[in-house]
Amino acid sequence: MTRTVYVNGDYLPEDQAKVSIFDRGFLMADGVYEVTSVLGGKLVDFDGHAVRLERSLSELDMAAPVTKAELLEIHRELVRLNGIDEGMIYLQITRGAPADRDFAFPDPAEVPSTIVLFTQNKPGLADSPAARTGIKVISIEDIRWGRRDIKTVQLLYPSMGKMMAKKAGVDDAWLVEDGFVTEGTSNNAYIVKGNKIITRALSTDILHGITRAAVLRFAREAQMEVEERNFTIEEAKEADEAFITSASTFVMPVVEIDGAQLGDGTPGRVAPRLREIYLEESRKAAV
Ligand code: PMP
Repeated sequence: MTRTVYVNGDYLPEDQAKVSIFDRGFLMADGVYEVTSVLGGKLVDFDGHAVRLERSLSELDMAAPVTKAELLEIHRELVRLNGIDEGMIYLQITRGAPADRDFAFPDPAEVPSTIVLFTQNKPGLADSPAARTGIKVISIEDIRWGRRDIKTVQLLYPSMGKMMAKKAGVDDAWLVEDGFVTEGTSNNAYIVKGNKIITRALSTDILHGITRAAVLRFAREAQMEVEERNFTIEEAKEADEAFITSASTFVMPVVEIDGAQLGDGTPGRVAPRLREIYLEESRKAAV
Protein backbone atom coordinates (compact mmCIF):
# COMPACT_ATOMS: atom_id res chain seq x y z
CA MET A 1 0.00 0.00 0.00
CA THR A 2 1.40 3.42 -0.95
CA ARG A 3 1.54 5.76 1.99
CA THR A 4 -0.71 8.81 1.85
CA VAL A 5 0.96 11.95 3.18
CA TYR A 6 -0.21 15.51 3.80
CA VAL A 7 1.44 18.55 2.19
CA ASN A 8 0.08 22.10 2.42
CA GLY A 9 -3.60 21.17 2.38
CA ASP A 10 -3.45 18.08 0.14
CA TYR A 11 -3.50 14.36 0.89
CA LEU A 12 -1.26 12.72 -1.72
CA PRO A 13 0.55 9.46 -2.47
CA GLU A 14 4.05 9.88 -0.99
CA ASP A 15 5.77 9.83 -4.40
CA GLN A 16 3.68 12.80 -5.57
CA ALA A 17 4.32 15.01 -2.53
CA LYS A 18 6.75 17.82 -3.30
CA VAL A 19 8.46 20.71 -1.49
CA SER A 20 10.47 23.49 -3.15
CA ILE A 21 14.29 23.40 -3.22
CA PHE A 22 14.09 26.97 -1.81
CA ASP A 23 12.25 25.78 1.28
CA ARG A 24 14.02 27.13 4.37
CA GLY A 25 13.56 23.81 6.09
CA PHE A 26 15.77 22.26 3.40
CA LEU A 27 18.26 25.15 3.06
CA MET A 28 18.57 26.28 6.69
CA ALA A 29 16.90 23.75 9.00
CA ASP A 30 14.46 26.61 9.63
CA GLY A 31 11.64 24.40 10.81
CA VAL A 32 10.06 22.70 13.79
CA TYR A 33 8.54 19.26 14.20
CA GLU A 34 6.54 16.94 16.42
CA VAL A 35 6.20 13.18 16.64
CA THR A 36 2.97 11.83 18.07
CA SER A 37 2.55 8.13 18.71
CA VAL A 38 -0.49 6.08 17.76
CA LEU A 39 -1.76 3.25 19.96
CA GLY A 40 -4.86 1.28 19.02
CA GLY A 41 -5.42 3.69 16.10
CA LYS A 42 -5.61 6.68 18.45
CA LEU A 43 -3.30 9.60 19.19
CA VAL A 44 -1.29 9.65 22.41
CA ASP A 45 -1.14 13.03 24.17
CA PHE A 46 -2.15 14.98 21.06
CA ASP A 47 -2.86 18.04 23.16
CA GLY A 48 0.64 18.10 24.69
CA HIS A 49 2.26 17.90 21.26
CA ALA A 50 -0.01 20.60 19.83
CA VAL A 51 0.78 22.96 22.72
CA ARG A 52 4.54 22.38 22.41
CA LEU A 53 4.31 22.94 18.64
CA GLU A 54 2.61 26.30 19.20
CA ARG A 55 5.38 27.26 21.60
CA SER A 56 8.18 26.18 19.19
CA LEU A 57 6.54 28.25 16.44
CA SER A 58 6.09 31.34 18.57
CA GLU A 59 9.66 31.19 19.93
CA LEU A 60 10.86 31.34 16.30
CA ASP A 61 8.32 33.97 15.14
CA MET A 62 6.85 31.45 12.75
CA ALA A 63 3.18 31.47 11.78
CA ALA A 64 0.98 28.44 12.46
CA PRO A 65 -0.51 27.40 9.10
CA VAL A 66 -3.40 25.46 10.67
CA THR A 67 -5.47 25.62 13.85
CA LYS A 68 -5.21 22.99 16.58
CA ALA A 69 -8.60 21.56 15.55
CA GLU A 70 -7.45 21.28 11.93
CA LEU A 71 -4.23 19.65 13.06
CA LEU A 72 -6.16 17.01 15.00
CA GLU A 73 -8.33 16.37 11.96
CA ILE A 74 -5.26 15.93 9.70
CA HIS A 75 -3.65 13.52 12.18
CA ARG A 76 -6.83 11.46 12.38
CA GLU A 77 -7.34 11.43 8.63
CA LEU A 78 -3.77 10.17 8.05
CA VAL A 79 -4.25 7.42 10.64
CA ARG A 80 -7.46 6.41 8.85
CA LEU A 81 -6.11 6.62 5.27
CA ASN A 82 -3.01 4.61 6.17
CA GLY A 83 -4.71 2.13 8.49
CA ILE A 84 -2.31 2.78 11.36
CA ASP A 85 -2.89 0.79 14.54
CA GLU A 86 0.53 1.34 16.17
CA GLY A 87 3.09 3.82 14.93
CA MET A 88 3.90 7.50 14.75
CA ILE A 89 2.79 10.64 12.96
CA TYR A 90 5.58 12.99 11.98
CA LEU A 91 4.71 16.66 11.53
CA GLN A 92 7.01 19.40 10.24
CA ILE A 93 6.40 23.10 9.71
CA THR A 94 9.02 25.29 8.06
CA ARG A 95 9.25 29.00 7.32
CA GLY A 96 8.32 28.24 3.73
CA ALA A 97 9.96 28.80 0.38
CA PRO A 98 10.93 32.37 -0.53
CA ALA A 99 12.00 33.15 -4.11
CA ASP A 100 15.70 32.99 -3.25
CA ARG A 101 18.12 32.04 -0.49
CA ASP A 102 18.52 34.77 2.13
CA PHE A 103 19.46 34.68 5.82
CA ALA A 104 16.77 37.22 6.72
CA PHE A 105 13.33 35.77 7.43
CA PRO A 106 10.81 36.31 4.59
CA ASP A 107 7.65 38.32 5.28
CA PRO A 108 5.08 35.75 6.49
CA ALA A 109 2.37 37.68 4.63
CA GLU A 110 4.18 36.89 1.38
CA VAL A 111 5.69 33.48 2.08
CA PRO A 112 3.38 30.93 3.68
CA SER A 113 4.91 28.29 5.93
CA THR A 114 5.22 24.74 4.65
CA ILE A 115 3.43 21.97 6.52
CA VAL A 116 4.06 18.27 5.98
CA LEU A 117 2.76 15.25 7.87
CA PHE A 118 3.35 11.54 7.30
CA THR A 119 2.69 8.31 9.15
CA GLN A 120 5.23 5.70 10.25
CA ASN A 121 3.62 2.31 10.62
CA LYS A 122 5.20 0.37 13.52
CA PRO A 123 3.21 -2.72 14.40
CA GLY A 124 4.36 -4.03 17.79
CA LEU A 125 5.65 -0.61 18.91
CA ALA A 126 4.25 -1.02 22.43
CA ASP A 127 5.49 -4.60 22.75
CA SER A 128 9.10 -3.77 21.92
CA PRO A 129 11.66 -6.55 22.60
CA ALA A 130 14.17 -3.83 23.63
CA ALA A 131 11.90 -2.92 26.55
CA ARG A 132 12.37 -6.45 27.93
CA THR A 133 16.16 -6.48 27.69
CA GLY A 134 16.88 -2.76 28.17
CA ILE A 135 19.24 -0.68 26.05
CA LYS A 136 22.90 0.33 26.38
CA VAL A 137 24.20 3.88 26.10
CA ILE A 138 27.49 5.71 25.89
CA SER A 139 28.10 9.30 26.95
CA ILE A 140 29.26 11.96 24.50
CA GLU A 141 29.80 15.69 24.75
CA ASP A 142 26.71 17.84 24.20
CA ILE A 143 27.71 20.41 21.58
CA ARG A 144 24.20 21.38 20.41
CA TRP A 145 22.92 24.97 20.32
CA GLY A 146 21.49 26.71 23.40
CA ARG A 147 17.74 26.51 22.65
CA ARG A 148 17.11 22.80 22.95
CA ASP A 149 13.66 23.55 24.36
CA ILE A 150 12.56 24.46 20.82
CA LYS A 151 11.90 21.32 18.80
CA THR A 152 13.73 22.29 15.61
CA VAL A 153 14.73 20.04 12.71
CA GLN A 154 18.43 20.75 13.33
CA LEU A 155 19.14 17.10 14.08
CA LEU A 156 22.64 16.66 12.66
CA TYR A 157 24.44 16.31 15.99
CA PRO A 158 21.84 13.95 17.48
CA SER A 159 22.23 11.85 14.30
CA MET A 160 26.01 11.89 14.72
CA GLY A 161 25.50 10.84 18.35
CA LYS A 162 23.42 7.86 17.24
CA MET A 163 26.19 6.89 14.82
CA MET A 164 28.83 7.17 17.58
CA ALA A 165 26.65 4.84 19.68
CA LYS A 166 26.24 2.44 16.78
CA LYS A 167 29.98 2.40 16.16
CA ALA A 168 30.54 1.65 19.86
CA GLY A 169 28.13 -1.30 19.58
CA VAL A 170 25.42 0.24 21.77
CA ASP A 171 21.93 1.67 21.25
CA ASP A 172 22.11 5.37 22.04
CA ALA A 173 24.13 8.21 23.52
CA TRP A 174 23.55 10.43 26.55
CA LEU A 175 24.76 13.99 26.11
CA VAL A 176 26.93 15.60 28.76
CA GLU A 177 27.50 19.31 29.26
CA ASP A 178 29.67 20.85 32.00
CA GLY A 179 29.88 17.41 33.62
CA PHE A 180 26.12 16.82 33.80
CA VAL A 181 23.81 14.73 31.64
CA THR A 182 21.40 16.86 29.62
CA GLU A 183 19.34 14.22 27.77
CA GLY A 184 19.59 11.41 25.21
CA THR A 185 20.00 12.08 21.47
CA SER A 186 16.21 11.88 21.02
CA ASN A 187 14.84 11.26 24.50
CA ASN A 188 14.92 12.45 28.11
CA ALA A 189 17.26 10.68 30.57
CA TYR A 190 16.58 9.43 34.12
CA ILE A 191 18.29 7.49 36.88
CA VAL A 192 16.66 5.66 39.78
CA LYS A 193 18.00 5.34 43.31
CA GLY A 194 15.81 3.27 45.61
CA ASN A 195 12.31 4.66 45.11
CA LYS A 196 13.58 8.01 43.81
CA ILE A 197 13.53 9.05 40.16
CA ILE A 198 16.12 11.67 39.24
CA THR A 199 16.01 13.69 36.03
CA ARG A 200 17.34 17.06 34.92
CA ALA A 201 15.00 20.00 35.56
CA LEU A 202 13.36 21.80 32.63
CA SER A 203 15.29 24.71 31.10
CA THR A 204 16.53 25.77 27.66
CA ASP A 205 19.14 22.97 27.99
CA ILE A 206 16.71 20.16 27.15
CA LEU A 207 13.58 19.42 25.19
CA HIS A 208 10.51 19.52 27.42
CA GLY A 209 9.42 15.97 26.65
CA ILE A 210 5.70 15.33 26.44
CA THR A 211 6.34 11.77 27.62
CA ARG A 212 8.51 13.15 30.46
CA ALA A 213 5.62 15.28 31.76
CA ALA A 214 3.21 12.34 31.70
CA VAL A 215 5.66 9.85 33.24
CA LEU A 216 6.61 12.18 36.10
CA ARG A 217 2.93 12.80 36.79
CA PHE A 218 2.21 9.04 36.89
CA ALA A 219 5.28 8.42 39.07
CA ARG A 220 4.11 11.00 41.62
CA GLU A 221 0.59 9.56 41.55
CA ALA A 222 2.12 6.13 42.28
CA GLN A 223 3.85 7.64 45.37
CA MET A 224 7.31 7.50 43.80
CA GLU A 225 9.63 10.33 44.72
CA VAL A 226 10.77 12.58 41.85
CA GLU A 227 13.84 14.79 42.10
CA GLU A 228 14.43 17.22 39.23
CA ARG A 229 18.15 17.99 39.37
CA ASN A 230 21.39 17.53 37.49
CA PHE A 231 23.27 14.23 37.66
CA THR A 232 26.65 13.10 36.36
CA ILE A 233 27.58 10.00 34.37
CA GLU A 234 29.50 8.77 37.44
CA GLU A 235 26.34 8.98 39.54
CA ALA A 236 24.34 7.31 36.76
CA LYS A 237 26.78 4.37 36.63
CA GLU A 238 26.19 3.82 40.35
CA ALA A 239 22.38 4.08 40.08
CA ASP A 240 20.02 1.15 40.70
CA GLU A 241 18.30 1.74 37.37
CA ALA A 242 18.18 4.15 34.48
CA PHE A 243 15.73 4.78 31.67
CA ILE A 244 14.76 7.10 28.83
CA THR A 245 11.41 8.46 27.68
CA SER A 246 10.13 9.66 24.31
CA ALA A 247 6.93 9.52 22.26
CA SER A 248 8.27 6.63 20.19
CA THR A 249 10.02 4.57 22.91
CA PHE A 250 7.60 5.39 25.78
CA VAL A 251 9.64 4.34 28.84
CA MET A 252 12.73 2.32 27.92
CA PRO A 253 15.06 0.79 30.54
CA VAL A 254 18.80 1.51 30.24
CA VAL A 255 20.98 -1.33 31.56
CA GLU A 256 24.50 -0.19 30.68
CA ILE A 257 26.21 3.23 30.68
CA ASP A 258 29.72 3.62 29.22
CA GLY A 259 30.31 -0.12 29.67
CA ALA A 260 29.21 -0.15 33.33
CA GLN A 261 26.35 -2.54 33.98
CA LEU A 262 23.51 -1.27 36.17
CA GLY A 263 22.35 -3.74 38.82
CA ASP A 264 22.38 -7.23 37.33
CA GLY A 265 22.26 -5.86 33.77
CA THR A 266 18.55 -6.45 33.31
CA PRO A 267 15.68 -3.92 33.66
CA GLY A 268 14.90 -3.28 37.31
CA ARG A 269 11.58 -2.71 39.04
CA VAL A 270 10.80 0.96 38.50
CA ALA A 271 11.29 1.50 34.75
CA PRO A 272 9.20 -1.52 33.61
CA ARG A 273 6.44 -0.53 36.06
CA LEU A 274 6.43 3.05 34.75
CA ARG A 275 6.27 1.74 31.18
CA GLU A 276 3.28 -0.39 32.09
CA ILE A 277 1.46 2.52 33.76
CA TYR A 278 2.34 4.90 30.93
CA LEU A 279 1.05 2.54 28.21
CA GLU A 280 -2.12 1.75 30.13
CA GLU A 281 -2.94 5.39 30.88
CA SER A 282 -1.98 6.56 27.38
CA ARG A 283 -4.27 4.02 25.73
CA LYS A 284 -7.11 5.17 27.97
CA ALA A 285 -6.58 8.86 27.26
CA ALA A 286 -5.74 8.56 23.52
CA VAL A 287 -8.00 10.48 21.12
N1 PMP B 1 14.78 15.12 24.02
C1 PMP B 1 15.09 15.17 22.71
C2 PMP B 1 16.38 15.79 22.29
C3 PMP B 1 14.21 14.62 21.75
O1 PMP B 1 14.52 14.68 20.45
C4 PMP B 1 13.01 14.00 22.20
C5 PMP B 1 12.05 13.37 21.22
N2 PMP B 1 11.78 14.13 20.13
C6 PMP B 1 12.73 13.98 23.57
C7 PMP B 1 13.64 14.55 24.45
C8 PMP B 1 11.47 13.36 24.10
O2 PMP B 1 10.35 14.14 23.85
P1 PMP B 1 8.91 13.53 23.71
O3 PMP B 1 8.65 12.74 24.97
O4 PMP B 1 8.02 14.68 23.59
O5 PMP B 1 8.92 12.64 22.51
